[in-house]
Amino acid sequence: MSFEEHYQENCIFCKIARGEVPCLKVYEDQEILAFLDTSPASKGHTLVITKEHFDSMLNVPEDLLAKTFRVAQKIAQALETKLGAKGINILTNIHEIAGQSVHHFHVHIIPRYGPNDGLKLECTPLKLEKFNLPVIANDIKSSI
Ligand code: AMP
Ligand code: ZN
Repeated sequence: MSFEEHYQENCIFCKIARGEVPCLKVYEDQEILAFLDTSPASKGHTLVITKEHFDSMLNVPEDLLAKTFRVAQKIAQALETKLGAKGINILTNIHEIAGQSVHHFHVHIIPRYGPNDGLKLECTPLKLEKFNLPVIANDIKSSI
């Protein structure tokens, strides 16, 4: 089934993928679309989406996920060479608690222009003794 037949009625990114809502495209192929974020965190902030609706990265098939990140890589390269980005943050939010507001898989590509560009994505590390790292590593490893 194509993404045109299989979409979520009230999803803004499905509407963009179907051409029902306009966007400023920077890349498009049969399966992937990239466009400028309309509330940019910095100049050139781009979103890469699968045209097909998946609620988050957790549901995306392997080959499509790989294609999405290949497009993200190309865009990141263009942001460096064309817009003069000095660094780039690439991230995808999963679920509301992590900041996901649009529940259609997307990858943010946020170019960085200098130490005072006003963006703060860093987190303060917690005390190491709070965690039993070997147990945590094993829990994760055993369920992959
Ligand atoms: P997230 O909070 O990770 O779900 O990111 C959703 C992003 O989509 C936000 O950065 C919004 O600014 C952006 N966004 C929402 N609607 C549109 C739209 N119509 N065109 C472009 N970007 C959008
Ligand atoms: Zn959607």
